[in-house]
Order: sequence, then structure tokens, then C-alpha cells
Amino acid sequence: MHPEHPDHHLDPDWDEFRALGKQIIDDMADHLAGLRDRPVWQPVPDDVRASFATGLPRTGLPMAQVYEEFRSSVLPFPRGNIHPRFWGWANGSGVPVAAYGDLLASLVNCTLGSGENAAMMVEQQVIEWLRQALSWPATGSGLLTSGASMGQVTALAAARQAKSPTADFRGTGAVAGGAQFTVYGSTQTHHSIEKAVELLGIGGRYFRRIPVDEDFRVDVGALRTAIRADRAAGLHPLCVVGNAGTVNTGAVDPLEDLLAVAREEDLWYHVDGAFGAFAQLLPSHRALLAGLTEADSLVFDLHKWLYMPFDVSCLLTRRAGVLEAAFSSGADYISKTARGPAAYSPAFSDRGIEQSRRFRALKVWFALKTHGIEAFAAAIAGNIAQVAHLTALVEASEHLELVSRSELNVACFRYIWPGAAPEALDRVNRAILDHLQTQGLAMPSHTVIDGKFVLRVADNNHRSALADFDFLVARVLETGAELAAAETTGPGAAPTGGQ
Ligand SMILES: *Cc1c(COP(=O)(O)O)cnc(C)c1O
Repeated sequence: MHPEHPDHHLDPDWDEFRALGKQIIDDMADHLAGLRDRPVWQPVPDDVRASFATGLPRTGLPMAQVYEEFRSSVLPFPRGNIHPRFWGWANGSGVPVAAYGDLLASLVNCTLGSGENAAMMVEQQVIEWLRQALSWPATGSGLLTSGASMGQVTALAAARQAKSPTADFRGTGAVAGGAQFTVYGSTQTHHSIEKAVELLGIGGRYFRRIPVDEDFRVDVGALRTAIRADRAAGLHPLCVVGNAGTVNTGAVDPLEDLLAVAREEDLWYHVDGAFGAFAQLLPSHRALLAGLTEADSLVFDLHKWLYMPFDVSCLLTRRAGVLEAAFSSGADYISKTARGPAAYSPAFSDRGIEQSRRFRALKVWFALKTHGIEAFAAAIAGNIAQVAHLTALVEASEHLELVSRSELNVACFRYIWPGAAPEALDRVNRAILDHLQTQGLAMPSHTVIDGKFVLRVADNNHRSALADFDFLVARVLETGAELAAAETTGPGAAPTGGQ
């Protein structure tokens, strides 16, 4: 207790702090070691839900008691993505050692806008390592962000500045600047691009959704036609977005062809490599991603296929200075001094929207130093092999249909049986998904492809093993058989999922 303010001091009793910290690490090590025996997910019971509706605490509790509440109310009801059988959406599993980096980041509590301190140098080093890992040109620059969504809007702001038709676009603004920009990407492009286009005042309808081929890759001919038509109509084509791994199916656009279009048409070339960019770590996949390192900007999420805990993502630009051109500020209170803590360059606050920024580089630094990039490359290769294994199991079963495949870590499939009506297939596959998820057995997510409701597996999980996919397929076949039998035994027999 603080001698002057016995009830109000915000630093802890250090012995208590020390003891609880040791216990937390002990408990969490047990928890993580025993993950496979727990349900992937379970619903939050009503009493637990109600506990989160209690009012503002006016006075405090012992920190050990608060931790006990975390253990009973938060820990058992996770999203599920740390479990070995979670493959939903595009969530990473989280490397435990990185959590030390997060803890230490909060304890040293540096803000990473600007200034001379080691934290700034750690972020610079992490960006440099990522540049090397992806074989990005040494002339580039970058920024860590919360996620790819933040990276997309930051990249498109740099694009708009770099390609603006007026010298003082930041000063005059979009309307007086006189250009109605257009942005191009396939119909499979992530919705964060559309958000960015809206947020930058370009207007969602000027994000041109270009059709895809049967492998969900953008139709380059249709792209060329769209750009020319827009130019002829007096619009100002700004940017081509290439996908290195679409969220639906893991498709990789022909990145080199898109590069050629962008160069011919003098457009900014942005690549969304949110998860797929990390396949660049594998020599086997560099041909698939050819063109990626020539882009003007690239985003990739370390919290997806580099298994970092949320949140951390990276934006790289091909040329240094393009982010500063869009974001640097001359405000007096952040101007540089000749020496001392405010003399340092670069300032990350000059490369993006945020001024106060968390020390998210530290967890990456900790994990990369601890494991080395080759361990991450091996885990990524493992995920690709697991999805190939799943794909083979699906193809080998007469009761499963492979609806999409990828050379990365995504596969979509569904349960089928002879003579099934489309609505019955959707109903049964929804019920299979519901069963897997609510029983905590495994966590694929879902999407709709060519009008078919499908189970979607996106494997960004360093804890998964081949046997987990055998387990998934066995459960799908078993549940599917029961539900399909109920479907075919006459009217009124439609299953609801059984819960
Ligand atoms: C996840 C994802 C995004 C968005 O990234 P966040 O980190 O969630 O903001 C964008 N594009 C693709 C392809 C994604 O998978």
C-alpha cells in the first residue's frame, strides 16, 4: 500500500504481483498443454453471461480474486482458435512464447509513434526481418498495423497520394482534387478493400468487382476492359488489388499478369496477402506467388499464418517515403529536436493513421528469435500438407464433394448422397456444421460457393495434426449419414441439427 494514499495507489504490492504472475504462467502452461482434451468451443452459459452485465466496480478486489473470476468466466469460453481442431475463418493459433512479448510490452509500456528508444528499433528490425522473409525489395518501407484491414486503408491512402492528379491533394481534398478514382479487384476480394475505398471517399461503387474464372482467379482480360471503359468515361483508375489467397477458397490471382496490367495502365498495384503471402517462405510456392514482390504495397497478417497472437499485421511498400507522403505531419508538439528522445527518425506516426501505437513488434521479435523463421516455414508446409490430406480424403469418399481446392491452406467441401435435392444438401450440411461446432468437436466455418453451402477449412493452426483431419472427416461422414437418412425417410423428417 502506498503510504500517502493507502486505498488509492495503482501500483500493486510487488510480492502479490510476483506470486500471481507465477501462478498465471503455471496455470496457462497446464491449460495449453491440455487443449486437445477440451471442447473446441462451447456456448457461454446464462449465469456467466449475466456476470458480464454487472456494474462499474467502485472499489477494488484482490487481484488473485479477479484472476479466479477470469478462470471461471472467461477462460472456459474461448473463440476456440487456440485448439488443434479449429480451422474457421482465417484465425491463427498463437505461439505461446509470443505472449511473453505481449506481457513485457505492456510492462515496459512504450508507445511507438516516434522517438529514440529501443522499442522503435525493435519494430524497425521486425519489419526488416519480414522484408527479408518475403524477399521484398530492400528499397521498401513498412509499418506494423493491427490487421490487414488497417493495412489496406493505409496502403490505398498512399496510392491515392502517389497517383493524385493535383500537387496538393491532401490540402484540396477529393472533391476539389477533381478525380473520381476507381479501384479494381476480383469478386473474391476481401470486404476490407471495399471498406477502405468507402472510407477514403472514393465510393464503394467505384470498387470494380472483376469476375473470376472457375478457379476463382481474377479474369485479367475483363480487368483490362473495365479499366479502359472507366478511362474512356472520364474516370481516374487508381489501383489494382491482387489476391494472394482469397478468404473464400485460398485462390491466388495471376499476380504477374496483374502487375503487367498495373504497369501498362500506370496504376498502383496492391496485393492482399493477408494469410497467403507467407507461402513465400516455401521454395515450392514461390512460382505461385510470382509478381508479389513487385507490388507497390503488400499487406499480410502475422496473426494468421505466422501464428502470432492477435493483433499484428504488416504493410510493406515498394518505395520508401510513400507512406510519409500521405501521412506525415508537421505539428509542433511532435516536431523533431536536434538530439535526445525526440531526435529520432523514422517516426511510425508519419507512416499511418495512429499516433499512439502499442509495442506489438515485441511478441514477433520474441517468437522469431526463439524459434527462427525455419520453424514457421515448416509449420506452414505442414498446414499445406494437412489440407492436401483432407482434400484427398474428401475426394476418396463417395459421400463427400470437394467444392474448392487451393495450393495453400483452404479447402471447401460438403456431404452428399445420390438423388439429394439442393435444399436438402444445404440443410444437412448446415446441420453437420452446427453439430461439429456446438458439440465442440471441430471448428470449420462455412461459406457459399456456386450457390452451395459448404464446410470451409482454413488451416492457420500450428497445433493441428493429420489425425485431426481424419477425425473431422469421420465425424462429417457419421453425422451426414444420420441426417441424410432422416431426410430420406419421408416428409417431416427434416433434421434440425439435433441440439
Ligand atoms: C483476414 C483477411 C483480411 C482482413 O484482415 P484483418 O487482419 O482481419 O483486418 C483481409 N484479406 C484477407 C484475404 C483476409 O483473410
